[in-house]
Amino acid sequence: MKDYFKLDDWKIIEEGFEPGENRFTESIMSLGNGHMGMRGNFEEKYSGDSLQGTYIAGVYYPDKTVVGWWKVGYPEYYAKVPNATNIIGIDVRINGEELDLACWQVNSFRRELNMEQGFLERTFTAENGAGVQVAVSARRFLSMARREVGAVSYSITPLNQEIKLELVPYLDGTITNEDANYGEVFWKASQNKAKTGEEEPAGRGYLALRTKKSDFLVAAAMEYELNKHPVEIKASQEKKYVNNCISLTAKPEEEINLTKYIGVTTNRDYRDDETGSQARRRAREARKAGWQKLFAEHSRAWSEIWDEGDIRIEGDVAAQQGIRFNIFHLNQTYTGHDPRLNIGPKGFTGEKYGGATYWDTEAYCLPFYLNTRDNEIARNLLLYRYRHLDKARENADKLGLDGALYPMVTMNGEECHNEWEITFEEIHRNAAIVYAIYNYIQYTGDREYLADYGLEVISEVARFWEDRAHFNPRKNKYMILGVTGPNEYENNVNNNWYTNRMATWCLEYALKTIDYLKDEYPGSFQKLWNELGLSAGELEKWRDMIDKMYYPYVEDLEVFKQQDGYMDKELKTVSEIPEEDLPLHQNWSWDRILRSCYVKQADVLQGLYFLSDHYDLATKKLNFDFYEPRTVHESSLSPCVYSIIAAEIGYQERAYELYLRTARLDLENVNKDTEDGLHITSMAGTWMSIVHGFAGMKLKRIAGEKKEERILSLEPFIPEKWKNYSFKINYLGRILNIKVTSTGTRVKREQGEPLEILLEGEKQKI
Ligand code: BGC
Repeated sequence: MKDYFKLDDWKIIEEGFEPGENRFTESIMSLGNGHMGMRGNFEEKYSGDSLQGTYIAGVYYPDKTVVGWWKVGYPEYYAKVPNATNIIGIDVRINGEELDLACWQVNSFRRELNMEQGFLERTFTAENGAGVQVAVSARRFLSMARREVGAVSYSITPLNQEIKLELVPYLDGTITNEDANYGEVFWKASQNKAKTGEEEPAGRGYLALRTKKSDFLVAAAMEYELNKHPVEIKASQEKKYVNNCISLTAKPEEEINLTKYIGVTTNRDYRDDETGSQARRRAREARKAGWQKLFAEHSRAWSEIWDEGDIRIEGDVAAQQGIRFNIFHLNQTYTGHDPRLNIGPKGFTGEKYGGATYWDTEAYCLPFYLNTRDNEIARNLLLYRYRHLDKARENADKLGLDGALYPMVTMNGEECHNEWEITFEEIHRNAAIVYAIYNYIQYTGDREYLADYGLEVISEVARFWEDRAHFNPRKNKYMILGVTGPNEYENNVNNNWYTNRMATWCLEYALKTIDYLKDEYPGSFQKLWNELGLSAGELEKWRDMIDKMYYPYVEDLEVFKQQDGYMDKELKTVSEIPEEDLPLHQNWSWDRILRSCYVKQADVLQGLYFLSDHYDLATKKLNFDFYEPRTVHESSLSPCVYSIIAAEIGYQERAYELYLRTARLDLENVNKDTEDGLHITSMAGTWMSIVHGFAGMKLKRIAGEKKEERILSLEPFIPEKWKNYSFKINYLGRILNIKVTSTGTRVKREQGEPLEILLEGEKQKI
């Protein structure tokens, strides 16, 4: 799939129609605006292979769990993002025959995702069996300026003869989820209405659906206008479907344009009885504003995003296109306007992973939003978890444990994944949630957050570790047994180094936070201390755990042991796996994978990345050399972490290779699963590979500082192929513009007060 799309700095271009690749391209060409999103489906009917997909943020369905042997503590449901009303649809009939590219001869075809301005465009010419030729040009966007609005401009031109044309803009709520566990239909009809316009060649339709169990009401409204008079229009409505059928005659070379304006609202934002009228209002307002104005607002919003968040690479178009593709989709998926929302691993681009939130958000996505957008946006990601604290307490309680255990997979704070090795055992996710708070404080300086929200989460997670670890008197050590580390290719292991290390890091951070708040916010601290029921004895226990935690270690190799039993495995390298066996998860039995030494994704290395300044370069190098040859990177979250460490230890070529694997992962379908949707959360890892890896950006500890004060440090290198690269960083109220060339690095302060940073180890005032 290497050269499927044309190389371009700002566009993803598919030239020529390949029906076999349609699902793949549909994922790539997805649009979103934080409130809703959709795959790159066609507006007109397509009877070939396609995943029609429209998704609305925060709307989910509790699909009944499928499981072999039920285990106490399993969640009752697996949340699914319901495939919602098709809002872009416009059927086209020519002389009574449906325009369908699966049946017509396609003479030319181009699909183009414009990332600079955020729209999808498709142009084609096609011919039917009777020799009728037409040209179509369709463009659409989901407004970044008016979140509940989208628009489609659809033009059709007969090329060689007059045609009888029927254009049928519709809203279709009969779509079902491909991934429904029991083939259940998630939506029931609520209201529908279709109307033709009175004076103008315009009309409207309205359709509201309700999810069956979770009771989300989603209303979609359309208004449209046509560039031709007079026409005949008929409106019709069924339970979950409304349309207007416009009949007209078009002469050769006469371009007929239909512009469809769409409003989509939910009862997450409005009262039930207001949701529908709000959707109609959005569509009406959009039509009144007109395409030009709407599009201008939308592309202005994108230009602001790019101004802050772009990474410019000169000298390598493939790398430039790759990183922009990642930045584009991250910004389409999460805009940070609503703390009730989060980032699903597939965003709005497919059904897999159910649109739910994983540790991916804190471990991978947060740094991206933290550094490229206003602080408010990252703060909302933290508040998402704060709002779920009670549910996390309930979740720990269900497992018989104190404190809070955040779910591995969630829509509303409840765990909704039911594989015991993940649900019960992948407890390392708890640490990422605390780490995100730490990261946020370090980059924003918003320490008040600790008093307002942070301490509650941090101390409840600390309590969880306190209860989950146990003291082994024979070894005089604390241990954490029966876990799954980030490497999901080993389950139920004892003392996963990463989990143990992050647990004590959480305890250390909890103690530091308590110390800090005691001094700086004594009033709110005392209140929290009482409310949380903290005690000196409990803090003592945390200190004891920090002193006596057990960390598996391989003495002769001087590497951290991934888990107690790792070195007893048959220690082979990935180069010994026959090519045809890869990826392992598609070719090997699960049992064989679990017994093997092969590592799915960064595990020990994840710890070395998070706690970078606790470990020296020699340690990182030894661990990289040991684990990288054994890592199959079968999670898209893996190569970026390895790339960052490789850059740090001076393995620049390897860093670049690993970077390429993540940057164009979806564009080149590296993991052969892009048709299911894009790897949205690992896209943030690609950004990290450049900023934390190539530019070596990190916060270095200033020795002896109680406040955990750090200094921003850059140690850049530039891949050989690149002429230069540049990006901006939002750091402690400043916007810094960093440009790396082969002769040096320039840091410009675009906003905020002067500050000192470390540039290649030297202090510099910016
Ligand atoms: C990874 C997890 C990740 C999940 C969702 C899995 O393949 O192993 O670490 O949270 O995908 O991206």
